[in-house]
Amino acid sequence: MPIKDPIGRKIYQSEFYKRNKELLISKSKEYKKINHKEVLEKAKKYREKNKTSINKSQQKYLSSHREEAKKRSREYYYKNKEIIRNKAKIYYKNNRHKINAYFSKNREHYNALHRIRASRIMDANDHTINQTSLILLLEYQKNKCSICKCDLRKNKKHLDHIMPLSKWWIHSIFNIQWLCAKCNQIKSASLPKWQLSIFNF
Ligand SMILES: [Zn+2]
Repeated sequence: MPIKDPIGRKIYQSEFYKRNKELLISKSKEYKKINHKEVLEKAKKYREKNKTSINKSQQKYLSSHREEAKKRSREYYYKNKEIIRNKAKIYYKNNRHKINAYFSKNREHYNALHRIRASRIMDANDHTINQTSLILLLEYQKNKCSICKCDLRKNKKHLDHIMPLSKWWIHSIFNIQWLCAKCNQIKSASLPKWQLSIFNF
């Protein structure tokens, strides 16, 4: 192998790779299996070190393969929906302040997510929520908060999905209750901010 000739070396290496492709792939797979932790650690370090160049090449790839990438990410999402959602939930719990700070700075991103959420609500909407049904519901609750029973005529009142919309996607008067602001805040403290009711009064 011509060590002092970088171009020749590159050609030699690529030919060597082509000749032994199957073997090399299976060997690297085996290595990764045995040294799983080290490989992950190494990859993480590499990513951190080469963040900008990786981002650049990713963006370059995405701009020329937009539809393909979209399709693939959608397929991946539907296949791993539960895992992704749970991961996101845990991540949010651990990074709440960071995420809220990010969204208060990047309102456009927040609004885009909000629009997605609104369109999902439209899908789950059984059209039983309107001014009349909301007033009737308040009368049915005797003007009391569903949780602490405080008087909602004296406190700020919020609408709340009894079963989280993020899980059940049912936007119906049968899945709605009136809460005082305090109870709503406590209940929704475990939910990401962009999942909070958009019907806060
Ligand atoms: Zn309450």
